[in-house]
Amino acid sequence: MLLERGRLFGTNGIRGKTNEDLTPVTCYHIGLAIGTYFSGGRILLGHDGRTSSQLIRDAVKVALMETGNRVYDARMVPTPTLQYSVKSMGFDGGVMVTASHNPPEYNGIKVVASDGVELPRREEEKIERIFFSKAFKLGEVLEEPVFVSGLAEKHVEAILKHVDVELVREKKFKVVVDPGNGVGVMTTPFVARKLGCKTITIHSHVDGRFPGRGPEPVFDSLSDLCKSVKAAGADVGIAHDGDGDRAIFVDERGRIVWGTYSFALIADWFLEKRKTSIVVPVSFSQVIVDVAEKHGAEVVWTPVGSIVVARTMLERGALIGGEENGGVFYAPHHPVRDGAMTAALVLHILAERGKRLGELVDELPKYAFVKDKVACPDEKKKEAMRKVEAELSKKAWRVETVDGVKAWIDEKTWVLVRPSGTEPILRIYVESTSEELARKVLASEKSRIADLISSA
Ligand code: MG
Repeated sequence: MLLERGRLFGTNGIRGKTNEDLTPVTCYHIGLAIGTYFSGGRILLGHDGRTSSQLIRDAVKVALMETGNRVYDARMVPTPTLQYSVKSMGFDGGVMVTASHNPPEYNGIKVVASDGVELPRREEEKIERIFFSKAFKLGEVLEEPVFVSGLAEKHVEAILKHVDVELVREKKFKVVVDPGNGVGVMTTPFVARKLGCKTITIHSHVDGRFPGRGPEPVFDSLSDLCKSVKAAGADVGIAHDGDGDRAIFVDERGRIVWGTYSFALIADWFLEKRKTSIVVPVSFSQVIVDVAEKHGAEVVWTPVGSIVVARTMLERGALIGGEENGGVFYAPHHPVRDGAMTAALVLHILAERGKRLGELVDELPKYAFVKDKVACPDEKKKEAMRKVEAELSKKAWRVETVDGVKAWIDEKTWVLVRPSGTEPILRIYVESTSEELARKVLASEKSRIADLISSA
């Protein structure tokens, strides 16, 4: 947790271990700060399925009421449902209690602005200032909290407006949905069924201990889904993280399609219909550059973190954004990551293209991605990064410094070096056309960077 360093918010909201960093008392104080910030607002409050989420929800709820806000309690909902509802129902803000993909012992608090997107950094800082200076302004307790229900159903209906329901229904797809015991089960299986899919679910009961496969959809955790897709002869498998904003797919042969490639498919399809720039974090694969070039579109690189991708999309009027981890931001619906919207888009694309998911992925250019880290004391990070930038700029034909240093050393090979925000290390990422090439570049860059650090 960032509390010790005078910060509350990380790249994805407030996160910490329940009853260590996030005690009910701390959450109550965070709630007072958020409530003072919104002061007299109508706030939609929701939570995920973690064992500690109702405890934290209650602490925040008391604080929001005490600071003079009207609280509308959505109870358990996926994060994208809360975000969409804040915008579509005209709330002044939203608070979501969730730790997304983090292990069960964690929890967190996300603060959503009236536009349904998490607050930009400068607004988070206002809440931090109130929190650390304890400048809480108590207000009149206006009324009892109101419970609102049916938000997931309305969210599902809104998603379906963006795809051709009849076209997908004709295909009679078979899908396996794996929400990983998270709240994604409240939307995606219903989207799939309304799209006429024979829908099988696994790890589908909400359980805050995440007994099925853990809350993060990564290569090591999706073997049950891969096996189920093959055993059922399904067209596609869909996995979500704990709060349902990310989606990772499995193709008809039981192969995991990483978020890099599912977003590339969505971007390629979308750019055929509409002109837009594409917003991605600087860590995203070259495959998105290939897709953008095919359509004459611009790629906008942002710092790593979903909030900054969404906020950059809004500032630039960009219609799509994506993250490697399966986060897809589809602005025609709502410019935040939305696992159920992503699932609907992929099903629509399969129907419209008339091809299987594996075939579509095989048609995309392939890149290999490797990563490593090198020790670097915190006090040396700034100087080391300055030297890394100078060094990489010499040999690169293009350098992007929006977050760390990303240097393209040839057409299809790039190196990204970023200082860790929490550990005394620099992280090194390399992508190239083959794993052999990527590893070769990584090895030489790693030793060069270690030299630069020792001379920093
Ligand atoms: Mg999440």
